[in-house]
Amino acid sequence: MQMDASNQHKQDWNRKLLNAYWLLVWIQLPFQLLYAISEQQDLTFIINRLIIPLLIMILIMFLLEFINMYSRMLLDYYIISGGAVLAFTLIYCNHDLKLAPLYLFLPILVSIFYFQLSKIIYTLALSLVSISILYWIKLSVFSDYHAIDLLTVIPVLIIVSIIAAGIMKRGAEILDNLKATTELKQELMIKNIIMDKLSKTDALTDLYNHITFHEYLDELIQQNEAGQFCIHIAVLDIDNFKKVNDTYGHRAGDAVLKSVSSTLKNRVGLNDFVARYGGEEFAIIFTEKDTDEVFELLERIRWQISQMKYDELHGQSVTISIGLSEYRPGTSKESLFAGADQSLYTAKKTGKNKTVIHTAPLKEAN
Ligand code: GH3
Ligand code: MG
Ligand code: MG
Repeated sequence: MQMDASNQHKQDWNRKLLNAYWLLVWIQLPFQLLYAISEQQDLTFIINRLIIPLLIMILIMFLLEFINMYSRMLLDYYIISGGAVLAFTLIYCNHDLKLAPLYLFLPILVSIFYFQLSKIIYTLALSLVSISILYWIKLSVFSDYHAIDLLTVIPVLIIVSIIAAGIMKRGAEILDNLKATTELKQELMIKNIIMDKLSKTDALTDLYNHITFHEYLDELIQQNEAGQFCIHIAVLDIDNFKKVNDTYGHRAGDAVLKSVSSTLKNRVGLNDFVARYGGEEFAIIFTEKDTDEVFELLERIRWQISQMKYDELHGQSVTISIGLSEYRPGTSKESLFAGADQSLYTAKKTGKNKTVIHTAPLKEAN
């Protein structure tokens, strides 16, 4: 996917370079015309300086467009080479202009776009070959041409290539720095998320912890002033857990805690909130069920837990007792929780392994 995106970017840049070449083809035309008119040149001049180079350059451009359309293989090298041929044509046809060899900078500038040293070196070599050919043919074709002028361009071309390589290296450095900074940022972000999770959850059971439970309940009650949610709180406690620890050891106790926790988490709804309230005590906030539904669900969970046998307890199982309380707008969070706690106490007092619903009215919030 990432590879596709970078290929797409490269294609976009190649398209832009081809557009720039087209611009070069057309932009030099009015200037040549102006020169021809101001110098009162004849038709031969117009043919040699305007028509022939224009036709050659259009031919080169069509060739490049064809390659761009049908074979993207080595397209970068074709574009650089095409630039060099365009430059060669312009220099050849404008041989009497002293600054004409400056067109050789064109392919070197283009090569910087690719951020590859090999392409800069390739372009420099191509430019030197162009100069050699120009030097060689000019001597015989144009008698008034100072071919030596061409040679003076060589050191400038080399310097420009070195600068181009420098620009590329600097760019790569900046890119590396940017990459390192982005990676560091991502690492920090991940660490923050982990820290946040660690501060909100309990390490043994992976359930929310006591503090987070209260924060969530506070927020929920605050948002529920209009009474749009049906909030219930259940407090669950493993029966005779001290005996489990005393008989089978602390590690066996931990295994039971983990297993009970994952059962709770898996059985409640997506919008219900399970926390390890402390020790072997859990609390659940239900937000979208009525009392009968919550009671039924809790009874099913209680039954399921009582059916789970543990190897750590030599095939024995554990039971839980549950106290359930319904929130009514206007009552305090403390009394809501105290209601569930009282019911849990009643469940423990009356034989354990049962769910008791709080029925007495809850205290008003201050
Ligand atoms: P009851 O039925 O009345 O709830 O009796 P109980 O034995 O379950 O209650 P009690 O409060 O007497 O004992 C709770 C035990 O839970 C004592 C403590 O060692 C144990 N406990 C608390 N936290 C952990 C824990 O993280 N791992 C283990 N293995 N045991 C724990
Ligand atoms: Mg207990
Ligand atoms: Mg307890």
